[in-house]
Amino acid sequence: MLLFATSCLAQSSEGPWLFAGFKNNGQNGVYFAVSEDGWHWKLINDGKPVIAPAQAGELMRDPFLQRAPMGGFRMMWTWSWRQPAVAGYSESKDLLHWTPHRQLEVMANESTALNVWAPALYWNEAKRHWLIFWSSTIPGRFPQSQYDKNGLNHRIYATTTRDFRTFTPATLFFDPGYNVIDATLLPADGNKANGRYRLVFKDERKEPEGKHIRLASGASMEGPWSNVTEAFTEPGSEGPASFAMDHGWVVYYDHYQSPGGLTCKQIIVTHAHIDHIAAAQTLKRLTGAPVYYNQLDLPLVKIMDIQAGWLGIPTPEVGPPDADAGNGMKVRFGATEGTILHTPGHTEGSLVLHIPDEKLLLAGDTLFAGSIGRTDLPGGDYPTILRSIQDVLLPLPDETLVIPGHGKNTTIGAEREDNPFLK
Ligand SMILES: [Zn+2]
Repeated sequence: MLLFATSCLAQSSEGPWLFAGFKNNGQNGVYFAVSEDGWHWKLINDGKPVIAPAQAGELMRDPFLQRAPMGGFRMMWTWSWRQPAVAGYSESKDLLHWTPHRQLEVMANESTALNVWAPALYWNEAKRHWLIFWSSTIPGRFPQSQYDKNGLNHRIYATTTRDFRTFTPATLFFDPGYNVIDATLLPADGNKANGRYRLVFKDERKEPEGKHIRLASGASMEGPWSNVTEAFTEPGSEGPASFAMDHGWVVYYDHYQSPGGLTCKQIIVTHAHIDHIAAAQTLKRLTGAPVYYNQLDLPLVKIMDIQAGWLGIPTPEVGPPDADAGNGMKVRFGATEGTILHTPGHTEGSLVLHIPDEKLLLAGDTLFAGSIGRTDLPGGDYPTILRSIQDVLLPLPDETLVIPGHGKNTTIGAEREDNPFLK
């Protein structure tokens, strides 16, 4: 089940449980799943979202569903990846009918905050108010710890409210000394033994071996938090949602990456020369990922035995592409998007993959450091490769890192300056 949960609700620690989650980018809304035993879950509403975004630009990521002590339900969620730095909010009496979605300006006193992610809310019975906390990056804050390549370095911030209309100014709620997101509380009723509260959160650092889930403990549900544990999940884990069961806790989380830290989603073949396509079917079998290449290279696939003869190696298993990768095709991975650009010349179907956010070009055998792809093999054409480079690659930003199919890396700027074939 491709559901990323941030909250689980139960009437009691005997269940049944209701699980609120989202799929993909949260653009379709919130899905509910139910479980009788806490282990087996069934999507309800015929697998369709129960609540959908209602306003332009609204996502419903990281939904957090909570029971209100005065009756009914409250839900908060991540409204957008970046600004406006607001949290989504709605109320319901019956989980079916929800009040119009509101943007809660929980970071109103921090005007430069970039984002509000994964809000969580809890009723504090002793103080008779709601505690809301979430992760935000405030540029320039915590300069001694590392910002990631997207300029993000989150901490957990909190506010309190009684009416979801007025809020206390956001304050720092949890700072382990590094980038942290996705904090939630372990329910206190699974925790009666020593009366301490536990904050479960994602260590968002990439290094060393981060992106996993840890615990901190505190004497009250509002902290302060200390005694951070080692990770209890593998790297590539996030979005913990927990509930009490059998005198302990169950923590569900999204294991969004394999233990190696990466998941293969698509196999893109830049062109059908044997040294670029031979392993594609094996990779596909190992990963389940589809193989994409341009169908103009199918004639080269048909002569794979001849290609193998050029190198004196056995003929590899090859197959048609699972999708024809044409010019302009988008490839998504995580929050990043790449575009396939058709750059014929080395072969008729030669492709490059441009990833603008990463300033990265995977160039296949079209452009090399100080050289260009050969054009003396079947399908090759010298004027065509020059035109591809001039028209498609050189207009890219100078700082674009070029990773060619052979040899050392270069940049678009360096090749525009110095490549003798482009004079
Ligand atoms: Zn080649």
